[in-house]
Amino acid sequence: MKRALITIDYTNDFVAENGALTCGRPGQDIEEALVKQTNAFLQQKDYVVFAVDVHEEGDPHHPETSLFPPHNLRGTEGRKLYGELQSIYESRQDEIYFMDKTRYSAFAGTDLDLKLRERGIQEVHLVGVCTDICVLHTAIDAYQLGYRLVVYKDAVASFNSSGHEWALGHFESVLGAEVR
Ligand code: ZN
Repeated sequence: MKRALITIDYTNDFVAENGALTCGRPGQDIEEALVKQTNAFLQQKDYVVFAVDVHEEGDPHHPETSLFPPHNLRGTEGRKLYGELQSIYESRQDEIYFMDKTRYSAFAGTDLDLKLRERGIQEVHLVGVCTDICVLHTAIDAYQLGYRLVVYKDAVASFNSSGHEWALGHFESVLGAEVR
């Protein structure tokens, strides 16, 4: 079965100590596992997608403006990938589909579903942050669109540990995901 890795929101703002909306330590602790999966998928020539939240400063129409402090603003250091992932991206840009997303789900208002379908991909593997927000909403959309799901529990994280645990259970028992 053809598969894709979708790496969600692993940016400085969501992961670094001084990030604008950081997951903190749990986000930093998954770096090694997340990088390992990314390299493994690249090695096997599987489709690798970096789905990265983007915002325009003070956008009055965006629903997150009233929910969260400004984060992942276009063109800022905060929107760059965290740690080793940024160097992987810089050295292997040709092999990675870096896509903007403006909502929690990587499928909302993007061409991700088309990109996956034109490649015959039926199985979507998820890593990144936050387990209970963007990873969750992406997983739900993937489920609704008929993709098989695999989530790597050592390569997803959240600032909210109970939300993280709840989401792992939800992936498995409600979305039929394989949680590895
Ligand atoms: Zn956002």
